[in-house]
Amino acid sequence: MLTGTALGALVWARSMTIAHVCFGCARDLAGVRAVRDPHYALPLVICPDCGKACVRQTHPFHTRWIASLRIGTAVTALIFQNVVALTLICSTLVVIAGALTLGYAAMIGELTRQAMINLGMSIGAVSIVTGAWLTAGLSHIPWWRAWLGWMLLVVVLVGLIAAVSLGALGGRVPDLVSWIVGTSVITAAACVPLGIVMVLALAGIPLGKLILSAHRAFVRGRFRWRRRRRALGATLL
Ligand SMILES: [Zn+2]
Repeated sequence: MLTGTALGALVWARSMTIAHVCFGCARDLAGVRAVRDPHYALPLVICPDCGKACVRQTHPFHTRWIASLRIGTAVTALIFQNVVALTLICSTLVVIAGALTLGYAAMIGELTRQAMINLGMSIGAVSIVTGAWLTAGLSHIPWWRAWLGWMLLVVVLVGLIAAVSLGALGGRVPDLVSWIVGTSVITAAACVPLGIVMVLALAGIPLGKLILSAHRAFVRGRFRWRRRRRALGATLL
């Protein structure tokens, strides 16, 4: 019941025409079409009776509603970006771990064809999504910086995981030098599958550009719709 009342109030406030009295002759200008002032782009209402011009008033409820919608959209985009980044980092680390395990299996002669096919498919999928995301999600920075930054982040994470894992082995790593050498060897070995992922990620660029242009077209469409509504002289701006 309360929700119904609140919804009713919302619809009323979204659609109601704010009372707008002319300063010159006290005529209600609520139904008079607003025109855009060419210099400051302010919505001007010219009184048909006395010719006095004043700026259209906007309902405070409406402006707050638009502001909260904008904040909501920004927060949702931020959360989405972080979730995608986190998922991609985890997937890349899993693929690197898989490649290193396969390399070890090859060394001891236990490499199977099925394992190679699985790893190849995983690397392909992760690479294309990475390329698309670096193109569409980080379009505000130069592509090479996004590529380098991403590689550096993954290398640092691999190094940290290797260092912690070797440290957790305890007695099996005899001294500090062995620990540093072990960490460096694992990190350097991880750069091979990471390099492959980053090269294959170039194939994801067209997909990223497609997502970007679809998003831009959507935003342009929304702005066009707003402009049309303003041009119609709607009393709610
Ligand atoms: Zn007037």
